[in-house]
Amino acid sequence: MAEAASDLAARTAHPRNSTVANAPAARAPRAKRSAAPAITVSPTPKHLTAVRGPLLGWYDRNKRDLPWRRTRDPYAIWLSEVMLQQTQVSTVIPYWERFLARFPTALALASAPLDDVLAGWKGLGYYSRARNLHRAAQEVVARFGGRLPSTAEELLTLPGFGRYTAGAVASIAFGEEAPLVDGNVARVLSRLFEVEGLPGDKEREATLWALATALVKGERPGDFNQALMEHGATTCRPESPLCLLCPVRGACVAFRKGRVDELPPAKVRATPKKLTLALAVWPHAGTLLFARRADSGLFGGLWELPAAEVDADLPEAEAAARLASALGSEVKLEGTLGTVKRQLTHRDLTLRLLRVSGAQRPTRAPAFQELRWCTPAEAAALGMSTAMQRALDAALGSGVLNGD
Ligand code: SF4
Repeated sequence: MAEAASDLAARTAHPRNSTVANAPAARAPRAKRSAAPAITVSPTPKHLTAVRGPLLGWYDRNKRDLPWRRTRDPYAIWLSEVMLQQTQVSTVIPYWERFLARFPTALALASAPLDDVLAGWKGLGYYSRARNLHRAAQEVVARFGGRLPSTAEELLTLPGFGRYTAGAVASIAFGEEAPLVDGNVARVLSRLFEVEGLPGDKEREATLWALATALVKGERPGDFNQALMEHGATTCRPESPLCLLCPVRGACVAFRKGRVDELPPAKVRATPKKLTLALAVWPHAGTLLFARRADSGLFGGLWELPAAEVDADLPEAEAAARLASALGSEVKLEGTLGTVKRQLTHRDLTLRLLRVSGAQRPTRAPAFQELRWCTPAEAAALGMSTAMQRALDAALGSGVLNGD
């Protein structure tokens, strides 16, 4: 994955989380902190053994029945790992099944046009995952004869593979003793071994990876990695961990010292940036104008009602002029169709819908990869972000094509 600064940082708030209903939460009493905490952790072999065996046994008895756990196909496992990054398990399941039916092998995925792949990803968000998946599939075909390489080291040479994804695929699909650390694992290890430091802290990450490396050695490394993640998702949860049900409570330093609430410390989230886009809603003979964005940046490679970034309070006529410049075509402002607001992870997005027309209908534009005039039915097959889909719904809901 073109995984941000690190897999771990990108996956800190991992969405595999789910809850176990009606189970009691329990905490050990809080103890006072005394000496300055150590950042480096050196677990004894006894401590590692006290975690590994019980956690694996617990996983065997309690693991959720998820479709990608019923396959040994490395490609299918890889796909599940990519989809699970930033997306909830319950959301991923139908997407994973549909995507796999549409692109059943790395070869099928590599041979498909990127547009089809993005359309298959529609609604999952974080489209860079789909673009990287597509590029990696093409490299798997070109360099490895269509079969995923079996070691984390080789997997790391593919687009989109960071340390987490390589460890997950190598251990789960190929049984390599390759470690992984995601947000869930980081939390579990922080508590079990009293690892200090804020998420994103380099020394903390190095300690967590060292612990994961020591723990994964032994039988069934793929199952053990999944046990760690499953434990974090269902039992050692961020809030109200179910310590009374925990299979490794006896080996948990945070529980023993009453520090479960403190570890790991909450990450300070950056305030999302405000971004306003003016969108051209240009009807013609039952169609609207759509544009495909450049591959890089926000919504890279996706389709949209042609958009131009504007200041939130820019007058409409000037916003229309920005659209004219992006489209390389004269644009006449006909009116406004309201705004659509979306909260993205790092952005507060406002989409201002401007109804426009023009004497010449553009078919190419300097700011976009491609332009198309599409009916609503044709637009449904385009890879489009959820935000843009909402804007399109609002435009169509305003009756912009009625009597056009
Ligand atoms: Fe509680 Fe177990 Fe997590 Fe320790 S590892 S905090 S005992 S759930």
